[in-house]
Amino acid sequence: MTIKLKITLWFTIFMIILSAVIFAFIAFYSSSTSVHELRGKLMGLVEKNTKEIEYDDGELEIDDDFVSYKNGIFCFVFSEEGERISGAAPAAALEKGPFQDGVIRSVRAGAEPYLIYDRLVPLSKRKRVWLRGAVPERGGAVDTAAIYRAALIAVPLLIVLAATSGYLIAGRSLRPIKEIGRTAEGIRESGDLSRRIRVDSSGDELHRLAEIFNGMFDRLETNFEAQRHFTADASHELRTPVSTILAQCEYALENVSEREELYQLIGAIQEQGYRISHLIDSLLSFTRMEQRTESYTFEDIDLSALVLTVCREQGSSSEKGITLSEAVEPGIRMEADGALMARLLENLIRNAYRYGREKGRITVALEKDGGKIRLSVADDGIGIAAEELPKIWNRFYRVERSRSSAMGKGLGLGLAMVKQIVELHGGRIEVKSEPQWGTVFTVFFATAP
Ligand code: ADP
Repeated sequence: MTIKLKITLWFTIFMIILSAVIFAFIAFYSSSTSVHELRGKLMGLVEKNTKEIEYDDGELEIDDDFVSYKNGIFCFVFSEEGERISGAAPAAALEKGPFQDGVIRSVRAGAEPYLIYDRLVPLSKRKRVWLRGAVPERGGAVDTAAIYRAALIAVPLLIVLAATSGYLIAGRSLRPIKEIGRTAEGIRESGDLSRRIRVDSSGDELHRLAEIFNGMFDRLETNFEAQRHFTADASHELRTPVSTILAQCEYALENVSEREELYQLIGAIQEQGYRISHLIDSLLSFTRMEQRTESYTFEDIDLSALVLTVCREQGSSSEKGITLSEAVEPGIRMEADGALMARLLENLIRNAYRYGREKGRITVALEKDGGKIRLSVADDGIGIAAEELPKIWNRFYRVERSRSSAMGKGLGLGLAMVKQIVELHGGRIEVKSEPQWGTVFTVFFATAP
């Protein structure tokens, strides 16, 4: 059973119950008020008539104003002993006692129920008479049959109306769900992640849900695209060293008989092997970090000490005769994963060496600036052209010039990883560079509150 049908059904059942209750209420209320009215009229007439009889000269006198019949109410007079003196009762059963002064009672005369009201009226010291009013009870009851007849027509009409409107309203409000289902189905069938649910501006819960789904599709699409590029790039990167190895093996098997030359070739093959291994390692740690499958330990670390240690390790290489100097403010602490922070700095320093000039300088600085920690690595190397700057953070991106040059042995993953580490720590990284003058990478972290 669809939700639409369920809502319609519940709505209709509710309407049936509601209309039944309303009709029952109307029937009950109208009959009870009219019975109440009838009792009032009965009493009123009898009480009025009590003033229209008197005893004069031993004779009972009934005034002309005495009303013996009005609006279905009969009024008649009995002697104190219960003998009828005047007026005619509509049924014989009403013409005898017992009498009860000032009480309205229900009395059955044949099949007909009557309301009667008696009054003992004192006319002189010794003479008293009974005055009795009687009215058929049915006379006051509204025509309940008419109400039921009306209900018989109105209730089915109401139900049909309720069912139709319920069906239409449910259909209208559930339309976004249908749309969500259709889009998801479309994506499943075609694999086209660019499809989106059409959302109007009503802003209700279902539209909010549709928006959430659209957001999820956005994310899925971006992730999926990134994954696809990543796989394509990784395969591309692996293909080059692998084909080099294969070509060298083929050449060795066919042409090389000299031991010397063979050694040389194996050396070249080993180099490619290292490259592949390095690539695989980088890819693995990169993916783990991206998918957050590796667990990190964020703790209060002495960043100043860590920076000094990394600088000491990296600076000992004295590659290209470059000097590395550090300007580190002591005692700067932050919540971080020590291993990741070390990797971040290593990557930046390695790049500074790789793209630095012969006998150049690298400066690593760490300082606290207001509520921020600033860590920078500056070199005076080849620099990066302005149009390349936004792209250097992309995975596998290498500036063409550096790739072709002897320096360009990198994989193009270093800065992408640096950016990820910075983001993982809630920080921000920026780069300033001038071709032929050098490059400065600056990382900002918030200090602990
Ligand atoms: P790679 O492994 O190639 O160094 P990175 O992601 O670390 O990859 O860097 C991407 C590109 O950014 C490099 O190929 C290089 O062209 C450029 N680059 C990075 N750091 C520097 C730097 N300090 N000076 C000049 N160019 C740099």
